[in-house]
Amino acid sequence: MSSAARELRFASVADVIARLNPSYPVFCVFPDVLRARAREFVDGFPGTVLYAVKCNPHPYVLKALWEGGVRHFDTASIFEIAKVTEQLPEAHCYFNHPVKGRGALEAASDVYGLKDYVVDTFSELDKVTEIAGTDITVEVRIATPKGSAVYDLSSKFGAAPDEAVALLTEASRRGCRTAIAFHVGSQCLDPDAYRVAMEMSADVAARAGVKLEYLDVGGGFPAVYKKETPPLSAYFDVIRAAYERLGLDIPLFAEPGRALVADACSVLTQVHLRKGDSLYINDGIYGCLSEVRDGDLDPPVRAISKTGPVEGPMQSFRIFGPTCDSLDVLKQTFDLPESIGEGDWIEFGLMGAYSIGMQTGFNGFVTDTIVRIDGAQSGFGS
Ligand SMILES: *Cc1c(COP(=O)(O)O)cnc(C)c1O
Repeated sequence: MSSAARELRFASVADVIARLNPSYPVFCVFPDVLRARAREFVDGFPGTVLYAVKCNPHPYVLKALWEGGVRHFDTASIFEIAKVTEQLPEAHCYFNHPVKGRGALEAASDVYGLKDYVVDTFSELDKVTEIAGTDITVEVRIATPKGSAVYDLSSKFGAAPDEAVALLTEASRRGCRTAIAFHVGSQCLDPDAYRVAMEMSADVAARAGVKLEYLDVGGGFPAVYKKETPPLSAYFDVIRAAYERLGLDIPLFAEPGRALVADACSVLTQVHLRKGDSLYINDGIYGCLSEVRDGDLDPPVRAISKTGPVEGPMQSFRIFGPTCDSLDVLKQTFDLPESIGEGDWIEFGLMGAYSIGMQTGFNGFVTDTIVRIDGAQSGFGS
């Protein structure tokens, strides 16, 4: 069923409902939006754009981003490297996970020929140079201060400045090319976090006395879940200004995930039961909606029936997912038409990031029907 559906192309979400009448959840990909976001980033960012594959590794997504001009991919596992290479043989992958298994390193180096490896410790530097040799670029990941990002990505990974200086010096002494990478945290709402991290990087590079191949400013660029989110151009302006002021005469990289894909996909769920103010739907926190809970995101929703949008006065509802435990519920309530009932659909917008890639399949519930909606915007705007 789902592999047949995968071949189908649709004109709109209404078309999905008309043709599939789905009692199962459907993940909708809007390639036109992906191409537009890719072009916006590639044109606006003053450097090379890598897509962080973990954010959404679906082939429709990879292909549309490629068509929008993304040629470089931040990968963290052999699965991701294989998936990108299979879809996009000309793509350039970077192994940007600071902790790599030996088998994965061997395959990355010998089978896929990767040349860029992130490290944040001496043991990892030893492992990487032992297996991949020294004709590589060692990217030293530095930890950055916790700022106003929804997710912190520096408490698990990242070297402190002194350690980073020592790592760069040693990598260079071994004959490797060197680079610096950081990640200010996902859904970073303060453009200035990039300036702070770029200043730290410039300081570390100067102390190490090495010439960097590039400075990778990471991901973290936000999607517009809330109106007051600064636009991407504000981030690019801060990065460009810091680059000039610091006199960094090296290429810049960025590795956005969320900002490239969030508003380019939606999840079409169906109401299987209404019990008062509670709606029981067919996707939830073990499926595509885990980030709605963990990231406290407020995705836009709309109700659709077989005959079109459900209209009328609104009320707030609790939304429960399909699994048999009480944890499968969204924390916040959602405003939906008070007439909504069993068999109607709820479309969640802004679901491109950290959604299908994070499903568990727990209890046999999985969103495995993935459709393309060509020639259309997502309908939620942003
Ligand atoms: C997850 C991740 C990204 C992407 O982060 P976003 O916040 O989605 O832009 C980039 N780089 C690394 C190393 C990551 O782990």
